[in-house]
Amino acid sequence: MTRYENIGGVVTDADYWDCECNTDYIHHISDVEPCEKCGADPDEQPNSHVDEVHKVFDAFQRAEHEQIAN
Ligand SMILES: [Zn+2]
Repeated sequence: MTRYENIGGVVTDADYWDCECNTDYIHHISDVEPCEKCGADPDEQPNSHVDEVHKVFDAFQRAEHEQIAN
C-alpha cells in the first residue's frame, strides 16, 4: 500500500487519520487508541487529507512523526 492515495483529486496521507471531532481531529498513525474526546476508532476512520496535515503540523513535527512511525 502506498502512503499517499489520490481519491477524486483529494490526496490523503496514510500516516494520519481523522477522528469525528470538529477541531484537532488529525491523529498520527502511532496514535492507536480511539480518540479520547469522540471515541473514534483508528481502524474505522479515513486517512487525513495531506493539505490538512500540513496545516496542523509543521515540518518539524512531521519529521518527528516519521521517526515514531519507523
Ligand atoms: Zn475525536
